Amino acid sequence: MKKWLSISLLACSALLLTACNSGKSTQTKSTTTQSSQVTSSASKNGYTDPKELKDSYDVIIVGAGGAGMTAAIEAKDAGLNPVIFEKMPVAGGNTSKSSSGMNAAGSKFQKAQGINDTTDAFYEETLKGGKGTNDKELLRYFVDHSAEAIDWLDQNGIKLDNLTITGGMSVKRTHRPTDGSAIGGYLVKGLERNVAERKIPIFVNADVKDIHTDNGVVDGVKVQIQGEKAKNIKAKAVIVTTGGYGASKEILAKYRPDLKDYVTTNSKGTTGDGIALVEKLGGQIIDMDKVQIHPTVNQEKGILIGEAVRGEGAILVDDEGNRFVNEMDTRDKVSAAINALPKKRAYLIFDQGVRSRATAIEFYAKQGYVKEGKTVADLAKTIKVPKANLEKAVANWNKAVESKQDSEFNRTTAMEHTLSTPNYYAIQIAPGVHYSMGGVKINTNTEVLNKDNQPIKGLYVAGELVGGLHGDNRIGGNSVADIVIFGRQAGQQAAAFVKAQ
Ligand SMILES: Cc1cc2nc3c(=O)[nH]c(=O)nc-3n(C[C@H](O)[C@H](O)[C@H](O)COP(=O)(O)OP(=O)(O)OC[C@H]3O[C@@H](n4cnc5c(N)ncnc54)[C@H](O)[C@@H]3O)c2cc1C
Repeated sequence: MKKWLSISLLACSALLLTACNSGKSTQTKSTTTQSSQVTSSASKNGYTDPKELKDSYDVIIVGAGGAGMTAAIEAKDAGLNPVIFEKMPVAGGNTSKSSSGMNAAGSKFQKAQGINDTTDAFYEETLKGGKGTNDKELLRYFVDHSAEAIDWLDQNGIKLDNLTITGGMSVKRTHRPTDGSAIGGYLVKGLERNVAERKIPIFVNADVKDIHTDNGVVDGVKVQIQGEKAKNIKAKAVIVTTGGYGASKEILAKYRPDLKDYVTTNSKGTTGDGIALVEKLGGQIIDMDKVQIHPTVNQEKGILIGEAVRGEGAILVDDEGNRFVNEMDTRDKVSAAINALPKKRAYLIFDQGVRSRATAIEFYAKQGYVKEGKTVADLAKTIKVPKANLEKAVANWNKAVESKQDSEFNRTTAMEHTLSTPNYYAIQIAPGVHYSMGGVKINTNTEVLNKDNQPIKGLYVAGELVGGLHGDNRIGGNSVADIVIFGRQAGQQAAAFVKAQ
């Protein structure tokens, strides 16, 4: 986990050096202050020098993940003067780690590729995946603004025109970068570039400890920068985008003690800080026990093996080399099937075709997770499963693909390609904590609702910190859509609120 974090940090730092060139003038002045070590490295990366901190801004954004940077860009484009505070040494949060893509229905890229899709189908399938418990107003807004969000990213130089499919969806609506690579690094780099171009200040190592109100209206935050004495900064609105709580042992122990010893795929900063910040102001917190475990996680370091691997055709087998589940079922069901196996683990099995279509696999290979065989029999020997069973599982699967009929497990999607192009590969996986469905209750304007369902004035929340949109089970690809759709809305709504004051 630590190694992955340092790789991510290095990658992000490298990205920032290039991404922020155009916005450097106000953001990268060298400094001779007392905290020179940390300060100068922040400056080098394109983050704002702490010396440039002002006493007040139009709007403060707490957390520089995908939702936060999107909200900041929209607020700036609406004429506001926003600032972003990020508690970690780099921006990106869990968004940097996202892999498979972003769902949207009716996008121009789907149309160009002849994929017929509707927002109603997207709505119904997401509702089914969430077992009917999703906040239906948020869900309607979400599906209706999904294609627009793809366009908005494209207009800002972030093109997601390569399509794949995730569990519980009936058509290819998961948008990813042109080369089929993981979405996170590309999206974060693109958002950082847009933040820098607009000269939006972004302070790192800036931990927001409290949100202030005056007469029931939010009017600023208390932030501790570089470990120095915390300062009170004024604002006419605050947007909280601190992400989920999948890396908080304390919150998991409180709401889901059964999960506290699971590995987590989440980044270190995903500790649910926004829950406490909002709860203190009387905001409603819902569904905290709804935590998603992802079926395919490397157990050594908690690295997620993205759903695109199955979306591009991989199957799952148990330690006996037999298939045991519809791999494209929703995450809760696939995880439950793995946990029902004697060793509570399984293997993703795929061929070179899958490997070349889901290029994130190259990263897993570099980490040493991908086992290889020239034939299926070789692979069986390498991973120590019965050869005859694995050969039979792959042969039966290939017949199912050819006849478009999976009589064993009724899989109906991600069946375009047989597993017949050598070499053959396996990755051992088991479930891990992945996503928190619970969080802050908001309306479709992203306003935080108090216990009487009334908006707390000047307080907006977006991203994984929100509860309710995904119901009991989030569909893969819906969170990146969530952070862009509701991040945009938060920026626009906060701007309208500030201008009306
Ligand atoms: C490994 C992995 C793969 C994933 N793949 C996909 C995918 O392919 N598709 C999909 O739809 N979803 C995916 N998800 C889920 C998705 O990436 C996240 O839910 C989403 O990116 C969350 O975005 P966010 O902006 O809400 O939060 P984050 O991106 O987590 O950003 C929150 C930021 O707030 C900061 N912060 C927290 N507390 C404070 C504080 N007190 N003060 C200041 N800053 C603070 C954090 O440090 C962090 O940088 C994946 C998640 C993981 C972990």
